[in-house]
Amino acid sequence: MPFFTSIYSDLLELILPRYCSACSIVLQTTEKHICVFCLYDLPLTRFEFYKDNPLHRLFWGRVMLQQATALLYFKRCGKARKIIHQLKYKGQSALAYQMGFMLGLTIKNSPVFEVPDLIIPVPSGASKTRSRGYNQCTHIANGLADATNSHVREDLLKTGKSKSTQTRKGRYARYLNVKDGFILGPWGNQDSSVLLVDDVVTTGATLESCARTLQEGGFSRISIAALAWTS
Ligand SMILES: [Zn+2]
Repeated sequence: MPFFTSIYSDLLELILPRYCSACSIVLQTTEKHICVFCLYDLPLTRFEFYKDNPLHRLFWGRVMLQQATALLYFKRCGKARKIIHQLKYKGQSALAYQMGFMLGLTIKNSPVFEVPDLIIPVPSGASKTRSRGYNQCTHIANGLADATNSHVREDLLKTGKSKSTQTRKGRYARYLNVKDGFILGPWGNQDSSVLLVDDVVTTGATLESCARTLQEGGFSRISIAALAWTS
C-alpha cells in the first residue's frame, strides 16, 4: 500500500473505527468484518469432507438431496450467532458476501462436494424483504458464486404467497407454513445441478419446501449449503 494511502486509511480508522462482527473489538486496517483472532476461532463444521454428515442426515426420508453442508455450528452464545445476527438483522451485506465466499471456498476445495451449475438463494418472504430492504441469502449466494465460478439465479425460485413468521413453531407446523409457499420462475436446463443457499438451518423446513418445488419442476440434482447449522 502506498505511503500516503496507508496514512489516509489509518486516519480513517481513527475517525471511523470498524468493529469485528463476532467479538466487537476494533478492526485493523487489513482486517475485513471479522478480526484475525475470530477467523481462527470460528466453529467450523467441516461437513464438506464427508457426504453422510449430520446436516445431510437431517433431510433423509424428507427430500432427496445430493449433498448438504454448512460452514459453522450455530450456538446460542457463540461467534456464529453474532455473525448471523449482523448480516441478517443489521443489513451487513458485505459481511454476508464474505461469509458466502468462505463457504464457497470450502465447497470448491471439498474432496466430495460437486461444484454446482446454478446457485439459488432461498427467497425471502415479500414482507420481510420490504421491511429489511434486502435478502441476506442473495449476498451469501453472490459470494459463494464468485468463489466457485458458478451463476446465481435469483429468478428461479420465488415466494408464492406471504408467510406468517416461523418463530416459535415446531418442525411440522413450519413445514405446513412453508409448504407450497414457493413457485418456480422460468427455467432452462433441468439437467443443471442446483445449490440452494440459506443463512441458518434449524428444522430444515424452508429448504425442504424449496427443494420439493425444484424437484416438482424437473430438477433432480439438488444440494443445499448454509452458513450455519443449529445442531
Ligand atoms: Zn473478533
